[in-house]
Amino acid sequence: MFVNMHKVTDKPVLLALVSEPYSDELDKKSDDEIKAEGLGVLEEMYKGMVPDPSQVDVLVSRWSQDPFTRGSYSYTPVGATMSDYDVLTEPVENRVFFAGEATTKYFPALVNGAYVTGIREANRIMVHDDKIYLPPLKQFNETWEQYPEYVICEDGLELVARKSLDSGNKSVACVKPATKIKLESIGWTWQSKEPEQCIKNEPE
Ligand SMILES: Cc1cc2nc3c(=O)[nH]c(=O)nc-3n(C[C@H](O)[C@H](O)[C@H](O)COP(=O)(O)OP(=O)(O)OC[C@H]3O[C@@H](n4cnc5c(N)ncnc54)[C@H](O)[C@@H]3O)c2cc1C
Repeated sequence: MFVNMHKVTDKPVLLALVSEPYSDELDKKSDDEIKAEGLGVLEEMYKGMVPDPSQVDVLVSRWSQDPFTRGSYSYTPVGATMSDYDVLTEPVENRVFFAGEATTKYFPALVNGAYVTGIREANRIMVHDDKIYLPPLKQFNETWEQYPEYVICEDGLELVARKSLDSGNKSVACVKPATKIKLESIGWTWQSKEPEQCIKNEPE
């Protein structure tokens, strides 16, 4: 994927994002070989408009070889399914818990995926003490409608918390995942009707 960075840098910069398994192949090549390959792809798209390689500089990140990162973010290879994200989410003997963008099928490869899965796992740990952790609402003021929280609360139930921007009311409900999907598919808003199961009081 190519991203035109000119708009934000005011410089003639093109960003190329490459995912596995091609990125693994590229990582083993020299900068000049990668440049030639990238320009070759551009030449196929923009025949005759691509500059000579001698006029182009490249900077290659090679995240997978960086000992401090060992990669950039998750991707779904051919044959993978969304349920694979659920498998990565499963705790080990209720002692080891996994958060991170690679453990959410809702927001994979995104910072908000990393963030909400941290909240989800905090809840998974705290539910043993019969507690629920809710992030400060002010952090979500702008994005609440866009990014509702889905966090596991107990026995496969998911905690759904939403704030109505219109009324300022908060509502939190625990429903089975299947129920949630069914309700969402018919446009359930989490404010207009009562959840089928375990209504919680308003969070702080
Ligand atoms: C170039 C680029 C652009 C991006 N742009 C956006 C964007 O515009 N918007 C957006 O929302 N997201 C973007 N992302 C994605 C976002 O940065 C990631 O989804 C997010 O940082 C993932 O956070 P995480 O905590 O799940 O994982 P990470 O931040 O990857 O944290 C994992 C940590 O584990 C460490 N680690 C790995 N292996 C080991 C090991 N064996 N032992 C110990 N530690 C280990 C790593 O060093 C790393 O610190 C971008 C990512 C990249 C690379």
